[in-house]
Amino acid sequence: MSELNFAVQAQTKLAAQGVGVKRDVRSVAPPLYLSATYAWDDPEDKPGYDYSRSGNPTRTELERALCDLEGAAGGVVTATGMAAVNLPLCLIKPGDRVIAPHDCYGGTYRLLSHRAAKGDFEVEFVDQTDPAALEEAFAKDVDLVLVETPSNPLLRITDVCDLVARAKATNALVVADNTFLSPALQNPLALGCDIVVHSTTKYINGHSDVVGGAVLAARKELADELYWWANCTGVTGSPFDSYLTLRGARTLFTRIERQQLTAQTIAQILQDDPRVARVYYPGLETHPGHEIAKAQQKGFGAMLSVEFAKGVDTIAFLRALEIFTVAESLGGFESLVCAPAAMTHAAMPPEARAEAGISDRLVRFSIGLEHEEDLSKDLFSALRSAYGKSTLRAVAAE
Ligand code: PLP
Repeated sequence: MSELNFAVQAQTKLAAQGVGVKRDVRSVAPPLYLSATYAWDDPEDKPGYDYSRSGNPTRTELERALCDLEGAAGGVVTATGMAAVNLPLCLIKPGDRVIAPHDCYGGTYRLLSHRAAKGDFEVEFVDQTDPAALEEAFAKDVDLVLVETPSNPLLRITDVCDLVARAKATNALVVADNTFLSPALQNPLALGCDIVVHSTTKYINGHSDVVGGAVLAARKELADELYWWANCTGVTGSPFDSYLTLRGARTLFTRIERQQLTAQTIAQILQDDPRVARVYYPGLETHPGHEIAKAQQKGFGAMLSVEFAKGVDTIAFLRALEIFTVAESLGGFESLVCAPAAMTHAAMPPEARAEAGISDRLVRFSIGLEHEEDLSKDLFSALRSAYGKSTLRAVAAE
């Protein structure tokens, strides 16, 4: 507030404290602009930022960083990952057809199936790793394709370039959920996708203290349209969350590179254990998507899932873990474990889970920054308790 020619009440001073003051401090760390609104120099001269739902300098810092990371022409930071997944759906209309992976994130499945049930669009869940299923799905017109690769929780790998070619032939928009790898390990826009979405809650923030999302587009017009809808529907991210997310993102590469080394070691050890029926990790040569992952990713990531053999009590295993924390979410500095059927994918009907191959014996791990030897010790000690001594002897005798 500028100098006034008259005295004002304390409450007026309090309301005006610091409002509209021009600052020029050369801080190394970007400032956190919490202000909900911005002062106009002149009522006829709209400022660059006028209201924080529409634009906020702290959020802009993060948006710029994420656009650089994904090679995007523009984008918007949203309040949650689900808001990010929902935003491209604003671009389609009733009667339009969406193709989504049959083993996508449970919340995405819920969003698509419930919006489709209301008549917002039509949706078909398809195994995108199966060329015959894709052939059939693309036999009719498609308007939007959602791809999640690696998929959640089975780490299936979709050939993105092939999917993009099929989608372009029918003029469909391709939206990739890149949450599982982060821009450090995969850049879907460079593979031909139109839009990339993230739950920044995961690797990008990496500290399990923010829920957020981002939508980034290959072309400026598309980015502008998405930004318009984010403002219109009020789903833009908060300044404080943006501040923390940018702060967390600065160590993204270092974190995920370390985490994926540990994940590879653990996947290999588990693969050789008779109490484990199957390990889902794209870094294993036995993984059906290994070669495609090698070609389109810059690393195999730090997520892996395991199907235990008969005789392992999954609940007892989860209870016995001491370093891994049983919790939903992924991509943080700490190792997490979950049972997708009961937790992250509980929103999927049992038939859809069965169709996607998500059994009650499946356990998903998000590998954190702990020492790999300690994580292995924790896993094997929990496996011992979950298997029971008599069955252990049976394994040893096999
Ligand atoms: N996409 C994927 C692949 C996810 O795993 C999640 C959450 O687990 C989401 C989207 C939704 O993100 P959020 O929980 O930040 O809303």
